[in-house]
Amino acid sequence: MTVITRFAPSPTGYLHVGGARTALFSWLYARKHQGEFILRIEDTDLERSTKESVQAIFDGMEWLGLSYDTEPTFQTHNFPRYKDIIATLLETGHAYHCDCSKEELELLREQQMAAKEKPRYNGKCRDMNKPQSDKTVVRFKTPVDGSITIADLVKGDITVANKELDDLVIARTDGSPTYNLTVVVDDMDMKITHVIRGDDHINNTPRQINILNALNAPLPEYAHLPMILGSDGARLSKRHGAVSVMQFRDEGYLPQALLNYLVRLGWSHGDQEIFSISEMIEFFDLADVNGAASTFNMEKLLWLNHHYLMHSDPTEIVPHLIWHLGTIGIDANTDKSVDLVELVKAQRERCKTLVEMAEASRYFYQEFEVYDEKSAKKAFSEGSDDVLNHLKNTFAQLGNWEKEALHDVVKNTAETLELGLGKVAQPLRVAICGSGVSPSIDITLALLGREKTLARLQRAISHIQRA
Ligand code: GLU
Repeated sequence: MTVITRFAPSPTGYLHVGGARTALFSWLYARKHQGEFILRIEDTDLERSTKESVQAIFDGMEWLGLSYDTEPTFQTHNFPRYKDIIATLLETGHAYHCDCSKEELELLREQQMAAKEKPRYNGKCRDMNKPQSDKTVVRFKTPVDGSITIADLVKGDITVANKELDDLVIARTDGSPTYNLTVVVDDMDMKITHVIRGDDHINNTPRQINILNALNAPLPEYAHLPMILGSDGARLSKRHGAVSVMQFRDEGYLPQALLNYLVRLGWSHGDQEIFSISEMIEFFDLADVNGAASTFNMEKLLWLNHHYLMHSDPTEIVPHLIWHLGTIGIDANTDKSVDLVELVKAQRERCKTLVEMAEASRYFYQEFEVYDEKSAKKAFSEGSDDVLNHLKNTFAQLGNWEKEALHDVVKNTAETLELGLGKVAQPLRVAICGSGVSPSIDITLALLGREKTLARLQRAISHIQRA
């Protein structure tokens, strides 16, 4: 049997990290079993679904590298099929037309609430054989007896008596199908073997199983993933910080770090914390998913991000850095003056995010506006224009612009002028970076290149002489 899983988001907002974790687990499970992974856009709520959200889902999936095996499907393209199935359920006596009015249903609800009963439809039209009209909905005839047991792969067995469930609406008055119907039809038609989704759907599952049974369809396995909570124990939401996948990109996280973070949210493999994608695929199993909610910890994500910045092949980080440089007005695809692999190597130790790395790299591309006041005050003292002048003349004549040679120039200058190394390196650093913080001076010079170095030295000399 080929394992087929799906991720079935409703495009009504951004791609939330909770959704991304569901997508990741479904994707991993399919990849682990050499199965298929389907992306199904559940866009039947025409009022709430937007094109932008669909795009956000595509962008998020692509950025995370969660590839799907077939073209994404849209439920709005499948209305004729849902209509057919509704007709079949009516023909086989598994569904009926109901013309109970909103007011009637509201009254019923109030009465049930007053009697402290669970509000639900009382089945009034169930055996009345009402004809269809523009005021009727179609309801599914939930079996009155028996029960449904979900053998949930994460939560264990969950049994619900059918008498707890009412006759749910499967088509609205305008004939449009409802969520529980469309999910069932698609899961059946797509031959989904494992429905992996958030546990907010657990109440829907017995209803969906009843519909599948009525259609004589095989049942998929179910795995309901626990919620993700914010640090205060409430369901993770915007007020806890970034929750949209693309916001994590914007804030400078690597997709690999986010994936590694998400895979550990509710799943574990011994006490291993760092997983390559292939290890995730190899080790992942639904049986190891914890049934209890997990808490989102930004600090840990930041720690992982730094880990991946430090230990990834720099060539893998470069495209992400280019993207971030772009957001601060630096087109590193066109301006190739800086060796990006070396830049990543030089910056990654002190940067926890790509936003920091891009910002800390700005002076390699753009002239800084002003010197950091404190650093300039400390580094530019009387006589430092002579030091910088000496350096400028030596750099101008230097045969090769490489780290070792540059290091020697700084060292020899200190010796020649009989100064401590700091008295040379600090004015030099502030002159070329605008502040006292940079990677080691030789690497900084090598990355900056001769032309910018000479121009900035001249700028600093004039600045000191003007002061
Ligand atoms: N479209 C549903 C949602 O976004 C998910 C349906 C499912 O996974 O069965 O919550």
